[in-house]
Amino acid sequence: MSEAYDVVVIGSGPAGYVCAIKCAQLGLQTAIVESWTDGKGKPVFGGTCLNVGCIPSKALLDSSHKFAEARDHFGDHGIGIKSQSIDVSSMLARKNKIVSQLTGGVSSLLQHNGVTVVQGRGQLKAGRSVAVTDESGAVKELSATNVVLASGSEPINIPPAPVDNDVIVDSTGALEFDEVPERLGVIGAGVIGLELGSVWGRLGAEVVLFEALDSFLPMMDAQVSKEAAKVFKKQGLDIKLGARVVKTEVKKGGVTVTYSEKGEEVTAEFDRLIVAVGRKPRTQDLFTEDSGVTMDERGFVFVNDSCVTEAPGVWAIGDIVRGPMLAHKGSEEGVMVAERIHGKPVQLNYDCVPSIIYTHPEIAAVGKTEQELKAEGVDYKAGSFPFAAIGRALASGETDGFVKIIADAKTDRVLGAHAIGPAAADLVQQMVITMEFGGSAEDLQLMVFGHPTMSEAVHEAALAVDNMAIHMPNRKKR
Ligand code: FAD
Ligand code: NAD
Repeated sequence: MSEAYDVVVIGSGPAGYVCAIKCAQLGLQTAIVESWTDGKGKPVFGGTCLNVGCIPSKALLDSSHKFAEARDHFGDHGIGIKSQSIDVSSMLARKNKIVSQLTGGVSSLLQHNGVTVVQGRGQLKAGRSVAVTDESGAVKELSATNVVLASGSEPINIPPAPVDNDVIVDSTGALEFDEVPERLGVIGAGVIGLELGSVWGRLGAEVVLFEALDSFLPMMDAQVSKEAAKVFKKQGLDIKLGARVVKTEVKKGGVTVTYSEKGEEVTAEFDRLIVAVGRKPRTQDLFTEDSGVTMDERGFVFVNDSCVTEAPGVWAIGDIVRGPMLAHKGSEEGVMVAERIHGKPVQLNYDCVPSIIYTHPEIAAVGKTEQELKAEGVDYKAGSFPFAAIGRALASGETDGFVKIIADAKTDRVLGAHAIGPAAADLVQQMVITMEFGGSAEDLQLMVFGHPTMSEAVHEAALAVDNMAIHMPNRKKR
């Protein structure tokens, strides 16, 4: 006999657990299946994001930022520190405590909302039946009117650098180094490479990033990528573009990396090497062929804009479907699917999903870049404003970077916003709200921004769109 539910969600990452809670809030009988355990058969909730992704990486980014601030900038404020050290085990213990607090919090929320938790590996079969195999090998059958697949993603491995979880690690291993490496290599100068490279670099590691592409952060607005490259170089990150790692050799206490650069093979020695070349959807054995679910050649489940798969009553959300692999994108897909199951046809606006790189300074973006608009032949106007001319930024000693706003040349509607600098993530969130409400550059120009705040850079960038910035000379006279 199988247990019957309105909704069965497979996976309790930020996509799955939010979907399950929302379904339960809407009065649907909901179960969530999770295979991750604490080793004692107890399910661990929160997926990649809470356990080995967003949260632990941000905990280490904050610890290492404080360390670097004390070393490099406290003197500017007249604060003297006689000796400074980092106790890596305490830093990791703090991170682990934050992770436990949050994963425990998800467990309580599931319980509070009446979601049934089923520990084990779920597999969707024909007719929306889900077979769940627990750690002991016992199988339980669940049936549901709706099944939501939310099994997430895992790091991509590359043959020249096999992860041994000791010297060569993926992002998970890079959150657990027991000491600061003297020399750290990173394959991939993408989001993870920059964030985790920054953590260990701030604590004293000499960091070299190998990026196969000739361009740096090509998905970002080109003006932002250029500024970011300048800032990271100043911070001591050695970013080698057009550098493809072809071989690694692990030997006692380190690794020799061979990479090709401008047609030549070069070697470099490191204590540790992080492989951060992207992530792939975790869809192996997630569903049987006769379930009706289909996927592309890279393993992403086929869905439409509303996360409906090709099997009736089966939905897929988060990292296993198209779009950016971001926690908040998966969570909002989870809410959309719950609402649709309950009968309300809400639609997530994929044009307004912000993305952030949590380096220091932060890099954040929403909407179109200038290069995308050029390629699409859209007539636009852009304005940017540097933090160096913002009083609050000067007072904080945070003068690198700028805010940039792009608006439609005819309608004035905001099409994109890009920022590198202090609080960039929060400033771009203001632009998400503006864009969701169909706001224009003029709307922002006519609003009152508190003084002195970093937000004044948003106001001035909006004024700069029409060459009306007050606190800098404008490019053109009006
Ligand atoms: P996941 O979080 O991967 O969760 C999937 C869950 O499903 C897991 O718990 C897994 O055990 C379970 N599961 C899988 N298969 C089965 C099965 N068959 N049966 C039962 N359970 C199963 N994103 C951001 O937005 N901001 C950040 O700052 C950020 N930082 C990151 C830092 C790092 C180092 C990494 C690696 C990622 C980061 N991300 C960040 C990305 C973010 O973690 C993912 O986009 C997000 O976790 C995806 O959510 P998800 O629910 O789709 O999948
Ligand atoms: P990524 O796609 O951001 O970067 C991978 C980089 O590796 C790319 O620049 C790529 O050109 C390069 N690369 C690929 N193969 C290579 C090779 N053989 N040699 C050298 N370089 C190579 O992927 P990631 O940094 O691994 O992150 C994975 C996902 O996790 C991202 O999609 C991101 O959305 C998500 N994530 C988000 C955050 C955040 O929101 N702050 C943080 C971490 C991770």
